[in-house]
Amino acid sequence: MSSRARKTPLRKTRTRARAEPRLARSPTRPRARPTAREKWVYLFDEGRGDMKDLLGGKGANLAEMTLLGLPVPPGFIVTTQACNAFLAAGNRFPEGLWEQELAALRKLEKRMGRSLGDPENALLVSCRSGAKLSMPGMMDTLLNLGLNDAVAEGLVAETGDARFAYDAYRRLVQMFGTVVLGLPGEPFERVLEEYRRQRGLENDAALPAEDLEAITRAFQHLIREKSGRDFPQEPLEQLRLATEAVFRSWNGKRARDYRDAAGIPHDLGTAVNIVTMVFGNRGEDSGTGVVTTRNVSTGEREMEGDYLSNAQGEDVVSGTRPTLRISALKERHPKLYAQLARYCQKLERHFRDVQDVEFTIEQGKLWMLQTRDAKRTAQAAVRIAVELVREKLINRKQAVLRVKPEQIDFFLHPQFAPADKQAARDRGDLLATGLNVSPGAASGVVALDADTAERWSKEEKKAVIMVRPETRPDDVHGMLAAQGILTSRGGRTSHAALVARQFGKPAVVGVSELEVDGEKRQLTVAGRVIREGDTLSIDGTTGEVFAGPLETVIPDLKDEYILELLRWADGFRTLGVYANADYPHDAERARQLGSEGIGLCRTEHMFFEKDRLPHVQRMILARTEEERDEALATLLPFQREDFLGLFRVMDGQPVTIRLIDPPLHEFLPNHDVLLHDVTELETRLELLEGRREAKGLEEKLAQKRSLLEAVESMREANPMLGLRGVRLGIHLPALVRMQVRAIFEAACRCTREGVHVFPKVMIPLIAHSNELRVEKELLEAEARAVMEEQGVEVEYQFGTMIEIPRAAIIADQLAREAEFFSFGTNDLTQTTYGISRDDAETGFLSEYLQKRILPENPFATLDQRGVGALMELAVRLGRQTRPKLDLGICGEHGGDPKTIAFCHRLGLDYVSCSPYRVPIARLAAAHAALTSS
Ligand code: PEP
Ligand code: MG
Repeated sequence: MSSRARKTPLRKTRTRARAEPRLARSPTRPRARPTAREKWVYLFDEGRGDMKDLLGGKGANLAEMTLLGLPVPPGFIVTTQACNAFLAAGNRFPEGLWEQELAALRKLEKRMGRSLGDPENALLVSCRSGAKLSMPGMMDTLLNLGLNDAVAEGLVAETGDARFAYDAYRRLVQMFGTVVLGLPGEPFERVLEEYRRQRGLENDAALPAEDLEAITRAFQHLIREKSGRDFPQEPLEQLRLATEAVFRSWNGKRARDYRDAAGIPHDLGTAVNIVTMVFGNRGEDSGTGVVTTRNVSTGEREMEGDYLSNAQGEDVVSGTRPTLRISALKERHPKLYAQLARYCQKLERHFRDVQDVEFTIEQGKLWMLQTRDAKRTAQAAVRIAVELVREKLINRKQAVLRVKPEQIDFFLHPQFAPADKQAARDRGDLLATGLNVSPGAASGVVALDADTAERWSKEEKKAVIMVRPETRPDDVHGMLAAQGILTSRGGRTSHAALVARQFGKPAVVGVSELEVDGEKRQLTVAGRVIREGDTLSIDGTTGEVFAGPLETVIPDLKDEYILELLRWADGFRTLGVYANADYPHDAERARQLGSEGIGLCRTEHMFFEKDRLPHVQRMILARTEEERDEALATLLPFQREDFLGLFRVMDGQPVTIRLIDPPLHEFLPNHDVLLHDVTELETRLELLEGRREAKGLEEKLAQKRSLLEAVESMREANPMLGLRGVRLGIHLPALVRMQVRAIFEAACRCTREGVHVFPKVMIPLIAHSNELRVEKELLEAEARAVMEEQGVEVEYQFGTMIEIPRAAIIADQLAREAEFFSFGTNDLTQTTYGISRDDAETGFLSEYLQKRILPENPFATLDQRGVGALMELAVRLGRQTRPKLDLGICGEHGGDPKTIAFCHRLGLDYVSCSPYRVPIARLAAAHAALTSS
């Protein structure tokens, strides 16, 4: 190859008129929008850490590290605006960009005393993507730019290390083929594999120089054959094409998919970092690594990461070679390790957050290649935030704001039941233990590729564990669809680990005993064969992998750091946080999780219990007052017991009890089933006509017929708009009177026991003020009667739900009667949108969301513009009549952080949500208070 090498020293090249790069357009004839004076390019010492919008996260932090005096290889940054201008102009360089790149390159060459393309003294650079927000591995990067046949030979002469020179060259040619020309990676991999096979080697690091040179040639040949063009020998052409490729990769499919999933806007653009190459593959005193300044799985204060000796940067993240723990560096090069630890600490103190740092050691010299705020698990996020306060690096407010409310969810997420796990171990079902890179537990069927994982999860609604040798950016859709991720290769900073942590998916990686056979669609581990579709369980907290399904449990909130953080959050929030709870055990859990009251007890749930339903049905089907009163009298003690339980648990806190709400037919057998039974019985009787067996059946038929008649008489075309809520109370006053009697009898008894009760009786589905007036009159009289009978005075309130637009509009009238409002946003959304909440989510709503007709599911996140406007009106009108009107929300939205922020702005007194969302709501309410002031 050397005899055919073309010598192209840069200076010479620059002075003569050069052929323009083939893919690139002439920089002297730009077709992009003229933006002549725009500064497109920044040298590292011209930028700052706070310029992430313009320089991207990587570039801004390289600039900041340069300012801090850390050893950063010199380089420059092409701005995100240049990328956007390039893309907007149909992939054309904007005016002035190429000239600025060349000028920056000249300065770089001067600083390094080396020139791009000079075989005697070559400068090599990398060309790396770097958006404002980190998108690990989703965009492209090229290394070793500047190498060509002549420069490779020059590098051999300069370093005396042909293996090194040709390894660098073959990497460039390979990356150029795949990244710039978009060729598939497999043919390149196959060439490498063939050479490894011939030498009986496991990895590329041991291939000799002559093989690497031959491989480089084979790669060049591949490029010619597959793309019809030559690998460019002209270094400037390489640089320009690489810059373009990185720009284009912003709009690549995997980058777009990732941004969609991570909620990153599509118009930010990526910066391009041109950085002097330093080499970690120049012998045993060289290497490369990735560390986080603390443990990002647990939050512990210890540097953690992977190191590879005699290796180039991408080897660590790709997970294709087994990495060593960073402690290996400490053993081999204690001084360098100490230096790295010092830099890490400096960075952590400077950025006041845990950093994720890439470094390379080139022949004993440490270089810092990147730093960024480290991605971390929820558990680590909480511990780190609390400890940074203790270390006085941030204040409590910042700590509270650093943990996202959704991250709290992790602490309440399923983990394997300890007993079940032990039993699995005893059975010999523990197959292997890998790296515990993203905590949480998951059981599911094995899917061996991302498309299968996605299909099984989405279409067949299966819980899936995606198992791969290693994951790549193209696998992200499968990872998102899966419950958990398992790989046989890769380390803590592998792609699989990073993505899993970011999206809160349990993951175990680097299970080296695991053999994944994509062709036979099976795994082999511990002598067992697991086929695709079989069930596996993975514990991302411990790294264990089990055969078969395991029972999962939801842990209690006991972590000392989360408890502390939530205490701080409570100090900042002004919104109260209540729970929706129907049973004492729910109420107890809610209280443990920090709830300050019950915002909604749905009393009808008590009616559905097995021992009560027959009495409820008897009450509904009663033909006379007496029959009805008798059934109600049987139900009264049950209800009283229910309320006694709740009041005792909620001692000292308000308990909001909603009177019966659903249409009565919900308590009766299904109409269609009854009709079927009746028809069947009738047919059988016809066949049995006159026979003795017919007698018993006749009686049964009579019963079923009368039940069917009753059900038919109560049937409504639109039951959700029918006889329910307050309408039911007005229609069947004895029923709600019984409920109020039960509430107050229980309250009086608790008061005598010394329990402090505060019942709030809530009347649902009010649309007209007369409904509320009539109902309240009836019920308050009953409450007073009970208190008189019992000789006990109880503090109480009567109030209403706002669930119908009309109620919001006449809130000033309602507030005359109601002492509190609770927004039932489930119904309020249903009635405002005119969308059936029971049908929509499984029906057309998903189509609406897919087509982006609706930006969000209005039953999950409050529609602030529509439903929210009604709430705003109700708050204003309600408080106009009754300034101290107590206001809350008890629809499912009450646990949604965005809705909570809205409720804070509206000036509600509290939000009420399911017990498990209480801690999330506490933090969200604190965020709302801290960010609105
Ligand atoms: C509501 O409508 O928001 C509500 C809490 O009541 P339910 O969901 O029981 O109708
Ligand atoms: Mg409702």
